[in-house]
Amino acid sequence: MNAYRAALLYFKPDGTAIYDADGLLVTTPNAQGIQEVLAIGPWPALKAGFAHVPVQHLLGRLIAPGFVDMHIHFPQVDVIGSPAEGLLPWLENYTFVQEARFDNEAHAREVADFFLDELQRHGVSTALVFGSSHTASVNALMDAGQTRGLRLIAGKCLMDRHAPDGVRDQTEQSLLDTEALIQRWHGKGRLGCAITPRFVPSCSDAQLAGAGELAARYPEVWVQSHVSENKDEIAWVQDLHPQARSYLAVYEQFGLLRPRSVYAHCIHLDDTDRQLLRETGAAAAVCPTSNLFLGSGFFDYAAADRAGHLYGLASDVGGGTSFSPFHTMLAAYVVGREGHTKTGLSLSPQQLWFQHTAGAARALGLQGLVGNLLPGCEADFVVLNPAATPLLARRSSAAQTLDELLFSLIVLGDDRAVEQCVLAGRQLSLPTIAD
Ligand SMILES: [Zn+2]
Repeated sequence: MNAYRAALLYFKPDGTAIYDADGLLVTTPNAQGIQEVLAIGPWPALKAGFAHVPVQHLLGRLIAPGFVDMHIHFPQVDVIGSPAEGLLPWLENYTFVQEARFDNEAHAREVADFFLDELQRHGVSTALVFGSSHTASVNALMDAGQTRGLRLIAGKCLMDRHAPDGVRDQTEQSLLDTEALIQRWHGKGRLGCAITPRFVPSCSDAQLAGAGELAARYPEVWVQSHVSENKDEIAWVQDLHPQARSYLAVYEQFGLLRPRSVYAHCIHLDDTDRQLLRETGAAAAVCPTSNLFLGSGFFDYAAADRAGHLYGLASDVGGGTSFSPFHTMLAAYVVGREGHTKTGLSLSPQQLWFQHTAGAARALGLQGLVGNLLPGCEADFVVLNPAATPLLARRSSAAQTLDELLFSLIVLGDDRAVEQCVLAGRQLSLPTIAD
């Protein structure tokens, strides 16, 4: 059993934040040897019950759930920060060029290690990840992820048309490869697989139909793709599928909307599309730094809430500009302001934090398992130092409310504030902080 005394942030099942300024978190291994939360709450109330457990004191620190990144591309580590006019030229001039390198296993492994180091350094403990179109990329990532103990969901990108040599795959083989990856990795430790059609323009009807068949055969496996990011892209889809009611409806037609399907962006949807997300249980991965960087547009939070569909936050590296959940939450705030200018409302710091932890876990179908620290959750957590930089220390020490504290971290925080990202089953390697 492990016990940590610090300030604690976690969420009620309805999404309301709970904050204990002086709290105790107790974890214990489950039957699989994974550390789970046994108890959480105020230190004065819990300390007598756990007097027999040695407590690690982390005064001045905030323990919060490990962040959940709902959409990120592992082969785009070396694409981040590439200047382009918009999505389609960015894909052609930078992304496909880098992704073509991932048929080389040694390269894939080197990048996988760097990528997972970055996720953990920034406090991300669960991620839904695009591989390249090469199975070697997914094998390298899964292998590295298993060693580290992250909760990692990934898939081989499906793209059998409108893509250059080196990244384009073969329809039938791509589906066999996807199924082989599912059989090899899905459910192994904390790993999961995702059926991963890149986006409608890069997939033939036969490939989308095959992906839909796999989605029906393996309901526990995730589906991940992109939808309605950019207006040129939407016009292209309309040309390719003139009969379809909308871009999202193409995925529906091929059986790719269901619980555990996650669609990145969802910017230019209409209310019928949003209703379709809600009815099918599919989720939107909101990628604000990417959408601002590529000039794609603004996710409409008000419309998503009216429709009541699932959504959560994502970095979308390398279209996104940062691995940092703090940067993503700040960009989401900016995007939310745009959408809410008519009502005068904006996203609260607690809502932003929820969208990148328990809310994202719920959208992935992993509620009660990750993204939160209620009893029974896997003990993935970050130890944050609200005094990591001089300005953050100054600002956070003046915070009078939880929203003020969280917003100081969202606006001023980055990887320097993440002292440790503890993955379930792994030991904290921080010294006791007693004063
Ligand atoms: Zn993406």
